[in-house]
Amino acid sequence: MISRKDEPFSRSIQNYLKVIYSHTRENRPVSTLGLAEALDVKPASVTNMLQKLDEFEPRLVNYQKHHGVSLTEDGEKEALRVIRRHRLIEQFLYEVLGYSWDRVHSEAEELEHVISPYFEDRLAEFLGEPAFDPHGEPIPNRDLEVTQDESIIPLSLLPVGKKAVVRRVTAGPQELLAYLGEIGLHPGKGVEVVERNPLDGTSRVLVDGMEKFFGVGVTGAVFVSVAE
Ligand SMILES: [Zn+2]
Repeated sequence: MISRKDEPFSRSIQNYLKVIYSHTRENRPVSTLGLAEALDVKPASVTNMLQKLDEFEPRLVNYQKHHGVSLTEDGEKEALRVIRRHRLIEQFLYEVLGYSWDRVHSEAEELEHVISPYFEDRLAEFLGEPAFDPHGEPIPNRDLEVTQDESIIPLSLLPVGKKAVVRRVTAGPQELLAYLGEIGLHPGKGVEVVERNPLDGTSRVLVDGMEKFFGVGVTGAVFVSVAE
């Protein structure tokens, strides 16, 4: 049995926990193949790592061959800790260092593994305990609780003629984020779908009164809540 003592989890373990967390949101275990794809590694290495995590003290995952994998309470806590650091760092880079929002993710992917708990605390305090990162993703709080707003829908499902507010833009390809940033499609922006092509889903959208055409690649990545 491997025991943790006080040393931090390795970068690779943290990345596994993060990916398992994001793939099991609907309480369904994620498959070994699904993980291999998401982490860009061979299925055999995934199986190896999952067995290791299943024997970890504290136990981090529930893993049974052919039944997929889910996080234990300890595993989920560690995943949320890394996600909290990641999103705090993104917010710092964006708000304080003036990074554009398409550049913060790759930097945060590195830094999330190396900052100390003390650094994390100071950072959160300095930023005023922010609730969201630059993309509108919720930042888990100090107690590692995270609130998901169930009323948020993808722009692709917003009924034509309804006014809405952008709440979250999921981190897609960097070029897409850069483009959306250029046209000002940030959380807080007002949008309205004026027309949608029923064949391919292409939408004519008003962004702050400016007309834009978006394919489903964009409207599936932008999440909104319907304005009152
Ligand atoms: Zn990110």
